[in-house]
Amino acid sequence: MFEKDILLLKEKDLHRIIRDRESPQGNRIWINGKELINFSSNDYLGLLNHPDILKAATEAIKLYGSGAGASRLLSGSCIIHRRLEEEMARFKDTEDCIIFNSGYAANTGAIPALTGSDDLILSDELNHASIIDGCRLSKAKTIVYRHRDTEQIKGIISREGSRVRGRIMIVTDSVFSMDGDIAPIKELFNICSELNSEEDNVRALLYIDDAHGTGVIGNAKGAIAHYGLESREWLIQMGTFSKALGSFGAFVAGTSDLIDWLRNRARSFIFSTALPVPVIASALKALEIIMTDDEPLKRLWTNRERLVKGLKEMGFDIKGSETPIIPIIIHNVEKVLFMSRSLEERGIYVPAIRPPTVKEPRLRLSVTASHTEEEIDQLIGALRDVCGDKN
Ligand SMILES: *Cc1c(COP(=O)(O)O)cnc(C)c1O
Repeated sequence: MFEKDILLLKEKDLHRIIRDRESPQGNRIWINGKELINFSSNDYLGLLNHPDILKAATEAIKLYGSGAGASRLLSGSCIIHRRLEEEMARFKDTEDCIIFNSGYAANTGAIPALTGSDDLILSDELNHASIIDGCRLSKAKTIVYRHRDTEQIKGIISREGSRVRGRIMIVTDSVFSMDGDIAPIKELFNICSELNSEEDNVRALLYIDDAHGTGVIGNAKGAIAHYGLESREWLIQMGTFSKALGSFGAFVAGTSDLIDWLRNRARSFIFSTALPVPVIASALKALEIIMTDDEPLKRLWTNRERLVKGLKEMGFDIKGSETPIIPIIIHNVEKVLFMSRSLEERGIYVPAIRPPTVKEPRLRLSVTASHTEEEIDQLIGALRDVCGDKN
């Protein structure tokens, strides 16, 4: 039925396939019977296979079973779901927190619940697809602004602001998932702060998707800490347990009222079974580890510096990357696929990212705390091999 459509994708080099691992996720993985050094995982702190986390998950299964059996609002919620919410609220210094089943579910559930037809959403053009879909599900009008362009935001607000009967919500990734740069959150914070200082009512909300920031920037505390800011009643911090925390699921942290509202109105929360207990126990343990052991975080940033230095010496264009997500912009789909394949022949796994995921084709590197110096140098050497001295 979709033969022709698929053929068209293949002709444009845009057809994707799933590669199945035969090993655990990690700095080295096995695919097709071959061991590869893996530069494609979001397990920034290398916690996925941490023995304490595996133990916590196993013990939780013994205590509470595996599956949750119902949604949180029925009987699916276990005391450790609530404990994770409390710990995360403490970690983010907010009144409360709510768990969602994934980052995708959080954004597609929370954004439409927080905005209605009287409101205006301002969304960065490079925001994650789950934010885009959350905006599509919202009854609010959405205006997409140029990447990180706070001047354009101010312009839109001064032009459209007086016509907005409800609120204005600015929504942004903290760390952009394909470019690895960081949103100008201080400016966004100040814009909202100013709008909210004029009246008693909250006029502007700032919604931050800290999926790649949590555990990575701001001394592991995420984007708000990175900029030295503090929580506000109009600030909504979303993040995931699926990246640096090595587990699965997501959270939204904010005031008690806001979280209570989401419990009652976010459809992806209400109409979906609670996360399995071992997933929650893993996230709890990971949170405990990142609060008490800063060794993985230090290793992550040392590794990142080593890799970036090597890439810059070779003259690669890594755009504005400031984080362990490092794009190598290639511009040409055929060439980027060739590079990815050639790296794989040399034992290194780096996926090529193509349209429609990104406008500019690229290799997307993510470096983690579990990579060794030798593995990073091997990547640099292989890139030199594949590209010649000058790319
Ligand atoms: C990965 C990601 C998500 C989705 O999170 P999942 O838990 O994988 O569903 C949402 N937002 C951003 C910015 C992400 O990078």
